[in-house]
Amino acid sequence: MRKKIIAGNWKMNETPSEALKLVETLKPLVNNPDVDVVYCVPAIDIVPVVNAVKGTNVHVGAENLYFEDKGAYTGEISADMLLDAGVEYVIMGHSERRGYFHETDDDINKKLLKALEKGLKPIVCCGESLEQREEGITEDWIRMQIKIAFKGVSADQAKGVVIAYEPIWAIGTGKTATSEQAEEVCKAIRETIGEIYDEATADAIRIQYGGSMNAGNCKELLAMPDIDGGLIGGASLKPDFGTIVNYNK
Ligand code: PEP
Repeated sequence: MRKKIIAGNWKMNETPSEALKLVETLKPLVNNPDVDVVYCVPAIDIVPVVNAVKGTNVHVGAENLYFEDKGAYTGEISADMLLDAGVEYVIMGHSERRGYFHETDDDINKKLLKALEKGLKPIVCCGESLEQREEGITEDWIRMQIKIAFKGVSADQAKGVVIAYEPIWAIGTGKTATSEQAEEVCKAIRETIGEIYDEATADAIRIQYGGSMNAGNCKELLAMPDIDGGLIGGASLKPDFGTIVNYNK
């Protein structure tokens, strides 16, 4: 049985003092022993949020990392810096970073290898545009993203990775994929992992759906056999996040 993982992606929201208020608001709402709960927060919020969630069930994630260890990379953050600050998870390959900051599949592969080498738990995002869906190339596109991202990753390492399937057309738009559409692609992702590695790895890896998941639609999405959690943007900044975490109650 794969444990569900519900992760908030705060994006570029919440100043450090706002972040502390949000953690306090959510504190009584996010207790569910059946679920791993993660807040992926802006870099400047990491230290205050790590301190604020001490003693709770909440894990802290970053929204990005750089694949070099240290040096002249102005504005970037290394895996060691994240670990030293108390970060456990790290998102990579979010479509906003691919789109606005020109991250390539090769960059994401380097980030994944670095995160795994250092012991961070990666959340690797993939997803198709509306145009790609309409052209009928969704599964081919996602399979390619996964194959490039996982180059050089061992089966044992892959078992600990979380993949987030996030159709770009569903992110922040209020247009959620139907549970059937989401399941179809999550299943194809699991099959791809099975082809790259083996059945045991495909069975172990956790696959989230992300894209306008909210308190109203989470139950149906999370009931699908290949959907092991959610990556939540907008709804992670509201008490609704607690409803999603407690989707099974
Ligand atoms: C996201 O950005 O990862 C996301 C899923 O956003 P939203 O829930 O707002 O669509």
